[in-house]
Amino acid sequence: MNILDGRQIASEIQEGIKQEIIQLKSQTGKTPGLTVIIVGENPASQAYVRKKHKIAQKLGINSKIIELKADIPARQLIDQIQILNRDADTQAILVQLPLPEHLNTWEILDHLSPEKDVDRFLPVNLGHILLNRTHIFPCTPAGVLRMLDYNQIDVSGLNAIMVGRSFIVGKPLASMLTNRNATVTLCHSKTRNLPELVQQADLVVAAIGKPGFITADMVKKGAILIDVGQNFLYQENQVLEYCTEMQQQKFKKKGYGITGDIHIKAFSKSSHYTPVPGGVGPMTVALLMENTLQLFKQQVHIE
Ligand code: NDP
Repeated sequence: MNILDGRQIASEIQEGIKQEIIQLKSQTGKTPGLTVIIVGENPASQAYVRKKHKIAQKLGINSKIIELKADIPARQLIDQIQILNRDADTQAILVQLPLPEHLNTWEILDHLSPEKDVDRFLPVNLGHILLNRTHIFPCTPAGVLRMLDYNQIDVSGLNAIMVGRSFIVGKPLASMLTNRNATVTLCHSKTRNLPELVQQADLVVAAIGKPGFITADMVKKGAILIDVGQNFLYQENQVLEYCTEMQQQKFKKKGYGITGDIHIKAFSKSSHYTPVPGGVGPMTVALLMENTLQLFKQQVHIE
């Protein structure tokens, strides 16, 4: 079994972006601008946003965070998005999800300029993905494909199962795998015979949000396992059941352990697998940086 090392691949991607930004700055005098809007004080969202900001700054991206109060009226949030839509120094806008409950996600996102939609979630951008008419993809699905490419894994003809159908991960990734000629089964909470379907798959992608949900007995020997899930566990018995030894040590120091949606015991049956943490997570951040650079190049007409 081979580990698909997201940290290593992400750091190589980031180094390439950093060099390209230096070069573009010397040509144009400009640097890519990424602005993240965060509403409320969800600790996980705050941690993700801080991480993205730190890496963006390291790469020379002009990164800004706009922090808004949890009870902000929809109109004010939309006004803020529209200001950024018009701002020539911001080529990439990210609205950190989830939004507080009183805000309707799509009523808000619909006001984002499609060309500045760095997550590529807007219907027009998802439509281009479906039709295989774009080279800019949502960050997590793009990160998954880059890990496969880096390890020269060709998905053409493989039986792939995508467990989870969110618009952030499952739906776009199922389309992207289909466009690469995999035979894709897209599953969700109403799927009846999930274990049997997983057993037939050469490639299993899990984006569910339930620790260790895909168990070793479900997985075919030699399958490629891609674990998108990121679950924070705070109870010792859960940490002992679902987390690697390294995460169990971390739990003793920090009071929590992280694990994915694929049970760690399944990895020994695989040909390749992504660890959690250190797999898809770092790739998502690297691809956010790459998307920011792509949008910058499109909007200042460098391509
Ligand atoms: P969502 O909650 O939006 O979607 C979860 C999906 O899982 C849904 O489609 C749901 O089905 C499906 N599901 C839930 N229970 C079952 C079940 N028992 N059997 C089969 N399918 C089930 O989650 P996201 O896609 O946003 O995220 C999924 C996971 O990936 C989370 O752990 C999240 O933290 C992580 N994540 C990690 C990222 C990274 O960079 N590593 C980036 C984004 C997410 P239904 O549609 O029927 O409700």
